[in-house]
Amino acid sequence: MRPFRYERADEVSAAVTTLVRDPEAAYLAGGTNLVDLMRLEVVTPELLIDIRRLTSDRIEELPDGGLRIGAAVPNSDLAADPRVRRRYPVLSQALLSGASGQLRNLATTGGNLLQRTRCPYFQDITTACNKRTPGAGCSAMEGYQRDMAILGASPTCVATHPSDMAVALAALDAVVTVAGPASERRIRLTELHRLPEADPERDTVLARGELITGVELPPPHSALRSRYRKVRDRASYAFALISVAAALEVTDGAVRDARIALGGVAHKPWRATTAEATLRGAPATRESFLDAAAAELSAARPLPGNAFKVPLARNTMVATLLELLEEAR
Ligand SMILES: Cc1cc2nc3c(=O)[nH]c(=O)nc-3n(C[C@H](O)[C@H](O)[C@H](O)COP(=O)(O)OP(=O)(O)OC[C@H]3O[C@@H](n4cnc5c(N)ncnc54)[C@H](O)[C@@H]3O)c2cc1C
Ligand code: SF4
Repeated sequence: MRPFRYERADEVSAAVTTLVRDPEAAYLAGGTNLVDLMRLEVVTPELLIDIRRLTSDRIEELPDGGLRIGAAVPNSDLAADPRVRRRYPVLSQALLSGASGQLRNLATTGGNLLQRTRCPYFQDITTACNKRTPGAGCSAMEGYQRDMAILGASPTCVATHPSDMAVALAALDAVVTVAGPASERRIRLTELHRLPEADPERDTVLARGELITGVELPPPHSALRSRYRKVRDRASYAFALISVAAALEVTDGAVRDARIALGGVAHKPWRATTAEATLRGAPATRESFLDAAAAELSAARPLPGNAFKVPLARNTMVATLLELLEEAR
């Protein structure tokens, strides 16, 4: 690991200015992803700005019935919060399906959103990777493909986004609040992360120095009945091969509302808007759920090494919706 300097920031504006001016500086939150990547020399910042005291570590009620989650709230606190468990169970379940208890105690809301891909080539500096070194090539195109994307990928990068929490937040219509050099802004969670296109080195739409200050959840609506289902190679310490965050509202045997997001399928949490549109107003049956999954996955372009993900995603979507339907009865 290369030597680095450490500073603790006391003011948001000073931290943002340092990041904007110094290309060798990086924000440090829980450090559970950043420090690993520094050990592997995937990233080599010379200055770490500890931001844990800069943003709130509280979960607060919003006047409209939603919740505001400070960027420094640990993943374990967020998962255990009684309001989150009752009103947004999908979020609590997603958090508890990730990492381990010790990691969740350190990991923060902001850091979880901005964790980097687990593509093995990204983490191995001896291999070619466009995300690490733009223009170097993509080792995954002819290599290990099991964990890679089936939706929205590009020839430059087929990596997936690893966060479970972000998939739940995408289904919940969460909004991210950000402090930047000019002003504060709000970004819909579904618009925070990017598809790789021609510049996969950019994971998100954030500009250099922008600091996530919190996440806002709208009032629950149909999220009252919500669920996170994660399929992975091992029962713990494993990232999703496929995950589904879903919320379903059924009235008189028909789907009144559906919110669905998929993990493990794309460079960003994938909001399944086609499936949602197919479901709204349809009979709440297995056939409708299959139709919706097929409609969403008609855009899938799997690689030779991950074609299994298409039926796996379909089956996981249908199983999750059937569980929610059962709960609604
Ligand atoms: C063994 C292991 C297993 C794991 N399994 C899972 C899993 O199954 N599912 C899952 O979702 N995750 C998993 N994780 C990842 C874990 O959830 C992340 O490492 C963690 O959430 C990152 O949060 P952090 O606060 O430690 O971020 P850090 O490591 O401190 O930061 C991560 C990145 O975010 C930036 N950053 C942090 N906070 C902010 C902010 N407020 N504004 C702007 N930039 C910021 C940092 O500069 C850095 O680039 C696993 C990690 C490990 C080590
Ligand atoms: S899939 Fe993306 S992250 Fe992985 S090697 Fe290719 S460019 Fe790098």
